[in-house]
Amino acid sequence: MLQNAYLKRVYEDTVARNSDQKEFLQAVLEVFESLEPYVAQHPELEAHAIMERLVEPDRMVTFRVTWEDDNGKIHVNRGYRVQFNSAIGPYKGGLRFHPSVNASIIKFLGFEQIFKNSLTSLPLGGGKGGSDFDPKGKSDAEIMRFCQSFMTELQRHIGSNCDVPAGDIGVGGREIGYLFGQYKRLNNRFTGVLTGKGVMFGGSLARTEATGYGLLYFTEEMLKCMKNDSVAGKTIVISGSGNVAIYALEKATQLGGKVIAMSDSKGYIVDENGVNFQVIKQLKEVERGRISEYVNRVPGSRYVEGCRGIWSLPCDIALPCATQNELDLADAELLVKNGVMAVAEGANMPSTAEAVAYFQEHNVLFAPAKAANAGGVATSGLEMSQNSMRSQWEFSEVDEKLRQIMINIFRESEAAAKDCGHEGNLVVGANIAGFKKVSEAMLAEGLY
Ligand code: NDP
Repeated sequence: MLQNAYLKRVYEDTVARNSDQKEFLQAVLEVFESLEPYVAQHPELEAHAIMERLVEPDRMVTFRVTWEDDNGKIHVNRGYRVQFNSAIGPYKGGLRFHPSVNASIIKFLGFEQIFKNSLTSLPLGGGKGGSDFDPKGKSDAEIMRFCQSFMTELQRHIGSNCDVPAGDIGVGGREIGYLFGQYKRLNNRFTGVLTGKGVMFGGSLARTEATGYGLLYFTEEMLKCMKNDSVAGKTIVISGSGNVAIYALEKATQLGGKVIAMSDSKGYIVDENGVNFQVIKQLKEVERGRISEYVNRVPGSRYVEGCRGIWSLPCDIALPCATQNELDLADAELLVKNGVMAVAEGANMPSTAEAVAYFQEHNVLFAPAKAANAGGVATSGLEMSQNSMRSQWEFSEVDEKLRQIMINIFRESEAAAKDCGHEGNLVVGANIAGFKKVSEAMLAEGLY
């Protein structure tokens, strides 16, 4: 519970005003708890109502998205874009297409994005968007019509120097392509208004791989600096099998780790010989199939119904890469009992607050999402730089920049934790390091 009177008051007020937004309130509380030692030393924050201003987005739009399916039936979905904070740069954050999307989820993601983007050291503000549209089982033509309708409204609110969306759950290269095409058609402008674009039309090499690769660069640095160890030789479990999970698998394997299990929303596969990257990539990225199909292609592997059970598998490193609150206290207890040494979050807020506390109490190295999965947005920032320069960097150049950014994020988070007397607590460190720059910019820019 919060001790600092100012943070407590602002949090209670935030609860009263957003009582039905549990994911958003969960994210705010986590950040506020981490900021206690910093806020106590900075009375100017209260004098300038920085926390009150931080929890209220600059603006949020919701809109109707009407589209027609292949049978001529008309559907209506709801679209969202939250522009949370632009103190240090244009709003930046992905679009999520998933039936669970609502205002609370978009606001939690947008709020987290403020600090994550600050940690990258690039000039990026925080935003997020999406729709309750379910892309599963839709034809390419239906996806295109939905994206065109979504962008027809969204285009009024975004721009390369104003707000630059990217992908997230359910929004990959295909969707970004259709969204970009529609933006260009409506505005007659070829600009870097979206990131995660195809490399033939302004996308950056290594953007597709960036979140998963970045997660492993962070994990490797954390193991090196905090345990004098490395990923090599470790047994790893990864939840999810989407964009983040697939490239976490590839980099973990390249670093000498053995990934023994992966999941989708229906169940998980176990492959004690090490999950085969090419098979997963073909199955999930190209064919958009179910992970259960893996066992028909790889002898010796097995499939278990229900995704939750994946955390019962003994492993050294756990990488939750699917979705929010997918790992709770019971899962954390099982992982610790089975000897897990490190947990690094590829998804946004995948561990509940109780699970995080349990890991920390049991000396498990814990890498929070806003630090560990910042590689995606960092590389989106590099895509924006390349678009502005009308240039394209080599894969190796982008990858090396990404690796350096992840190492810096680890070091800054570690140093910030130490400075405020919470050595080794990367949750506190990442939140303070991300917040410091944003709050200083807000103070410098005056009241608005
Ligand atoms: P994808 O849509 O590519 O993949 C999502 C994966 O998670 C799929 O395997 C999906 O299974 C699974 N999943 C989704 N919802 C649930 C659920 N309720 N329960 C269990 N499994 C679920 O998304 P991404 O890989 O892009 O994103 C994964 C996470 O990483 C999200 O939290 C996202 O916000 C975060 N993230 C993504 C970044 C990026 O660059 N893409 C950047 C930073 C964070 P199924 O196929 O069955 O739906």
